[in-house]
Amino acid sequence: METRREVRSIQVEFKCPKCEHGFMIHTGLVLTSNPAQYPHKCSNPECDHTETFVGKKYPRLEYEFSTPVIEIREISKVKPLQNLSNPQNPT
Ligand SMILES: [Zn+2]
Repeated sequence: METRREVRSIQVEFKCPKCEHGFMIHTGLVLTSNPAQYPHKCSNPECDHTETFVGKKYPRLEYEFSTPVIEIREISKVKPLQNLSNPQNPT
């Protein structure tokens, strides 16, 4: 059964712990350990702080449900309209 629901997108960022002005940005490199590690670099050019997060990338988008599920009925299960031109009245 197909269902639809509205979601809100949440931007998750990590503020640099060193300069507290820039944000940690994923460099694109992935260390293929288990779980993977993601090297990040501060966006502030005067800081250049680097940090590697285990299993987490910043910035990233997360989704939260904002409304309950709306069920979409399948067409084949919808009752057809009654045929009024041919009433079932036996004579
Ligand atoms: Zn910084």
